[in-house]
Amino acid sequence: TVRTRFAPSPTGYMHVGNLRTALYTWLIARKAGGQFIFRLEDTDQTRQVEGATELIYRTMAECGLTHDEGPDVGGPVGPYIQTQRRGLYGKFAELLVEKGHAYYCFCEKAESEEDSGDFDRAEDPCRCLSQQEVAAQLAAGKPYVIRQKIPHTGTTTFSDASFGEITVENSTLDDQVLMKRDGLPTYNFANVIDDHLMGITHVVRGSEYLSSSPKYNLLYEAFGWEIPTYIHCSPVMRDAQHKMSKRHGDPSYEDLKAQGYLTEAILNYVALLGWSPRGELAEQEFFTLEELVQAFDITGISKSPAIFDLEKLNYFNSAYLKALSPEAFLAVAEPYLKQGITNPSIDLRLVAPLVQTRLNTLTEIPPMVDFFDRLPEYSNTLYLHKKMKTNEENSLEALQLVVPVFQAMTEWSFQAIHDALLHLAEAQGLKNGRIMWPVRVAVSGKATTPGGAVELCHILGKEETLRRVQQGIR
Ligand code: GLU
Repeated sequence: TVRTRFAPSPTGYMHVGNLRTALYTWLIARKAGGQFIFRLEDTDQTRQVEGATELIYRTMAECGLTHDEGPDVGGPVGPYIQTQRRGLYGKFAELLVEKGHAYYCFCEKAESEEDSGDFDRAEDPCRCLSQQEVAAQLAAGKPYVIRQKIPHTGTTTFSDASFGEITVENSTLDDQVLMKRDGLPTYNFANVIDDHLMGITHVVRGSEYLSSSPKYNLLYEAFGWEIPTYIHCSPVMRDAQHKMSKRHGDPSYEDLKAQGYLTEAILNYVALLGWSPRGELAEQEFFTLEELVQAFDITGISKSPAIFDLEKLNYFNSAYLKALSPEAFLAVAEPYLKQGITNPSIDLRLVAPLVQTRLNTLTEIPPMVDFFDRLPEYSNTLYLHKKMKTNEENSLEALQLVVPVFQAMTEWSFQAIHDALLHLAEAQGLKNGRIMWPVRVAVSGKATTPGGAVELCHILGKEETLRRVQQGIR
């Protein structure tokens, strides 16, 4: 059965690229009716960030990317946190030493250098120490790392679902560190051991690991283990030249949420960053998570880098916002409505539908609705509207006519206001706009508002409406 894993390191934010990897990994498992495993890769203790693990869990839960096995839910091949597995890597490393695929290295190298891959094995005297020499050094308590012993000659081939078959000269591969001085495995070693022990069939990860894959294959071969299917994903780019990077201000998943994007819209957009549907669905853009499960196919993953386009995300978000039921929209919009409107007598349930169709992001709401709270300063030039055939003078005249009509009203419903204003226009022989436009400006102080004159008056209530209309006559 298909088993995939998301294996984040708790080193910071949930980047858009991380989320995409998690999503594709999850989709592959769900599509195949297999299992999705969460594994925490925390062996690089120097890069840990406080709270990062919780953030990853929260994001996965929010996105609906549920896991079948993991640190919190357990499972048959745990533990699922690498530092809790520390005891089990050593014997595999020793097995490799015995088989001649790894060696003890006693050189005094900085840890950073060990992991960077620029270690020159041709100059490493430890590669050809005799068994006796090794035993003597170990007995003397000398600190050591265990390195992979890469053949000096020959080639190694591996295949990737999107990049195809890649062959490299072994002479270009470094004797990477497998076990560090602190007794913990490097990522490069742990990923192979854990993927094998956890029965992982498909490995989805960033293409930065592509160049290490031949070394992983040499390890699988040395153990005589089956090699998983590799799916390396190209980076998500800010533009043609630059990868997205939080350090350079590009948004992470949490940032996008804070900027007013819906999880569903982010997921839909992220799914299409590097994957496209095939066949009948080739033209389809909108997918629920369930639909993605049906449509997803590894062959649709592209090896060319995808550019993150905020405009396109806006397009998705706007469509997702529009598609929400009134109740669901109110639920997501309420905090933003409350930022703009603090007056408790304004009924947010009436305001919500007016903004729902006009948004790219939820953060656009507060400045759009704050005039309900407080009439902004406005200039009488706003009364000038060509199409409505209004100007300052005839607008003020219209407002004079509106005041007694409003004052006389006993019922303040949308319909009653609507009928009263139309009736007034008709009685005066005026086009509707000659009345509606001045009222809209007077009650909002704006040229563009969510909703028209009648909606605004209704929401503001009779008293406040009259106050604003009267104030507008100046
Ligand atoms: N811990 C690695 C990372 O966060 C995972 C890579 C992998 O999926 O193998 O980049």
